[in-house]
Amino acid sequence: MGKVTGFKEYTREVPQRRPVEERVNDFLEVYRPFSEEKVRSQAARCMDCGIPFCHTGCPVNNIIPDWNDLAYRDHWREAIRVLHSTNNFPEFTGRICPAPCEAACVTKVGSSRSHRERARKRGSQLSARGLRVSPRHNN
Ligand code: SF4
Repeated sequence: MGKVTGFKEYTREVPQRRPVEERVNDFLEVYRPFSEEKVRSQAARCMDCGIPFCHTGCPVNNIIPDWNDLAYRDHWREAIRVLHSTNNFPEFTGRICPAPCEAACVTKVGSSRSHRERARKRGSQLSARGLRVSPRHNN
Protein backbone atom coordinates (compact mmCIF):
# COMPACT_ATOMS: atom_id res chain seq x y z
CA MET A 1 0.00 0.00 0.00
CA GLY A 2 1.60 3.20 -1.18
CA LYS A 3 0.23 5.76 1.23
CA VAL A 4 -1.84 4.71 4.22
CA THR A 5 -3.88 7.91 4.28
CA GLY A 6 -3.95 8.42 0.50
CA PHE A 7 -7.63 7.57 0.10
CA LYS A 8 -8.51 10.31 2.59
CA GLU A 9 -6.10 12.91 1.24
CA TYR A 10 -6.76 12.76 -2.50
CA THR A 11 -10.05 13.02 -4.34
CA ARG A 12 -10.64 11.19 -7.57
CA GLU A 13 -9.26 12.94 -10.62
CA VAL A 14 -9.34 11.84 -14.23
CA PRO A 15 -7.95 13.54 -17.33
CA GLN A 16 -10.30 15.79 -19.25
CA ARG A 17 -11.44 14.78 -22.74
CA ARG A 18 -10.80 17.13 -25.62
CA PRO A 19 -14.03 18.51 -27.18
CA VAL A 20 -15.62 16.26 -29.82
CA GLU A 21 -15.60 19.14 -32.35
CA GLU A 22 -11.85 19.25 -32.03
CA ARG A 23 -11.30 15.48 -32.01
CA VAL A 24 -13.20 14.80 -35.23
CA ASN A 25 -10.54 16.79 -37.10
CA ASP A 26 -7.56 14.73 -36.02
CA PHE A 27 -6.34 11.39 -34.76
CA LEU A 28 -4.63 12.76 -31.66
CA GLU A 29 -5.10 11.64 -28.06
CA VAL A 30 -8.68 11.92 -26.77
CA TYR A 31 -7.57 12.96 -23.29
CA ARG A 32 -5.72 16.08 -22.26
CA PRO A 33 -2.33 15.56 -20.60
CA PHE A 34 -2.39 14.21 -17.04
CA SER A 35 0.76 14.80 -15.06
CA GLU A 36 2.87 12.00 -13.62
CA GLU A 37 2.42 13.60 -10.21
CA LYS A 38 -1.36 13.25 -10.52
CA VAL A 39 -1.04 9.65 -11.67
CA ARG A 40 1.01 8.90 -8.57
CA SER A 41 -1.34 10.67 -6.16
CA GLN A 42 -4.27 8.79 -7.70
CA ALA A 43 -2.37 5.52 -7.23
CA ALA A 44 -1.94 6.48 -3.56
CA ARG A 45 -5.73 6.29 -3.15
CA CYS A 46 -5.70 2.48 -3.33
CA MET A 47 -6.23 0.93 0.11
CA ASP A 48 -4.73 -2.45 -0.89
CA CYS A 49 -7.83 -4.25 0.38
CA GLY A 50 -7.56 -7.67 1.96
CA ILE A 51 -10.01 -8.86 -0.69
CA PRO A 52 -9.34 -6.69 -3.74
CA PHE A 53 -12.57 -6.82 -5.73
CA CYS A 54 -10.84 -4.87 -8.49
CA HIS A 55 -9.11 -8.18 -9.43
CA THR A 56 -12.39 -9.88 -10.19
CA GLY A 57 -13.69 -6.79 -11.97
CA CYS A 58 -10.76 -6.80 -14.39
CA PRO A 59 -11.31 -9.16 -17.37
CA VAL A 60 -7.58 -9.89 -17.62
CA ASN A 61 -7.02 -10.07 -13.84
CA ASN A 62 -4.58 -7.19 -13.70
CA ILE A 63 -2.82 -7.05 -10.33
CA ILE A 64 -4.13 -3.59 -9.61
CA PRO A 65 -3.12 -2.95 -5.95
CA ASP A 66 0.46 -3.99 -6.71
CA TRP A 67 0.98 -1.64 -9.60
CA ASN A 68 -0.86 1.15 -7.80
CA ASP A 69 1.73 0.78 -5.05
CA LEU A 70 4.63 0.66 -7.49
CA ALA A 71 3.35 3.71 -9.36
CA TYR A 72 3.02 5.66 -6.14
CA ARG A 73 6.60 4.75 -5.21
CA ASP A 74 7.86 5.79 -8.65
CA HIS A 75 9.05 2.25 -9.48
CA TRP A 76 7.99 2.43 -13.08
CA ARG A 77 10.00 -0.45 -14.49
CA GLU A 78 8.69 -2.87 -11.89
CA ALA A 79 5.18 -1.48 -12.39
CA ILE A 80 5.26 -2.26 -16.10
CA ARG A 81 6.68 -5.73 -15.41
CA VAL A 82 3.73 -6.50 -13.11
CA LEU A 83 1.28 -4.98 -15.58
CA HIS A 84 2.70 -6.99 -18.48
CA SER A 85 2.43 -10.20 -16.45
CA THR A 86 -1.34 -10.13 -17.12
CA ASN A 87 -1.76 -7.64 -19.94
CA ASN A 88 0.33 -7.51 -23.11
CA PHE A 89 -1.12 -4.23 -24.34
CA PRO A 90 -1.85 -1.70 -21.58
CA GLU A 91 -1.40 1.08 -24.14
CA PHE A 92 -4.52 -0.22 -25.93
CA THR A 93 -6.64 -1.43 -23.03
CA GLY A 94 -5.93 1.76 -21.11
CA ARG A 95 -7.75 3.61 -23.90
CA ILE A 96 -10.62 1.31 -24.86
CA CYS A 97 -11.43 -0.74 -21.76
CA PRO A 98 -14.65 0.40 -20.00
CA ALA A 99 -12.76 -0.13 -16.71
CA PRO A 100 -15.01 -2.56 -14.81
CA CYS A 101 -12.20 -2.68 -12.21
CA GLU A 102 -13.11 0.84 -11.18
CA ALA A 103 -16.77 -0.10 -10.68
CA ALA A 104 -15.64 -3.16 -8.69
CA CYS A 105 -13.41 -1.14 -6.35
CA VAL A 106 -14.73 -1.22 -2.78
CA THR A 107 -14.65 2.56 -2.52
CA LYS A 108 -16.53 3.07 -5.76
CA VAL A 109 -19.28 5.30 -4.38
CA GLY A 110 -18.39 8.60 -5.97
CA SER A 111 -14.69 7.99 -5.55
CA SER A 112 -13.58 5.07 -7.64
CA ARG A 113 -9.96 4.67 -8.62
CA SER A 114 -8.77 5.76 -12.02
CA HIS A 115 -7.03 2.46 -12.82
CA ARG A 116 -7.56 2.63 -16.53
CA GLU A 117 -5.85 5.99 -16.77
CA ARG A 118 -2.84 4.70 -14.85
CA ALA A 119 -2.57 1.64 -17.09
CA ARG A 120 -2.71 3.82 -20.19
CA LYS A 121 -0.24 6.33 -18.82
CA ARG A 122 2.16 3.69 -17.60
CA GLY A 123 2.10 1.73 -20.81
CA SER A 124 2.53 4.79 -22.99
CA GLN A 125 5.19 6.47 -20.87
CA LEU A 126 7.27 3.36 -20.48
CA SER A 127 7.12 2.60 -24.17
CA ALA A 128 8.27 6.13 -24.84
CA ARG A 129 11.17 5.66 -22.42
CA GLY A 130 12.16 2.41 -24.08
CA LEU A 131 11.12 0.40 -21.02
CA ARG A 132 8.65 -1.82 -22.86
CA VAL A 133 9.22 -5.26 -21.36
CA SER A 134 8.24 -8.26 -23.38
CA PRO A 135 6.03 -10.62 -21.33
CA ARG A 136 8.20 -13.45 -22.63
CA HIS A 137 11.29 -11.91 -21.03
CA ASN A 138 10.11 -10.51 -17.74
CA ASN A 139 11.09 -13.32 -15.37
S1 SF4 B 1 -10.69 -2.69 -4.58
FE1 SF4 B 1 -9.98 -0.55 -4.85
S2 SF4 B 1 -9.05 0.04 -2.90
FE2 SF4 B 1 -9.25 -2.23 -2.92
S3 SF4 B 1 -7.25 -3.00 -3.68
FE3 SF4 B 1 -8.60 -2.78 -5.47
S4 SF4 B 1 -8.19 -0.68 -6.23
FE4 SF4 B 1 -7.37 -0.80 -4.17
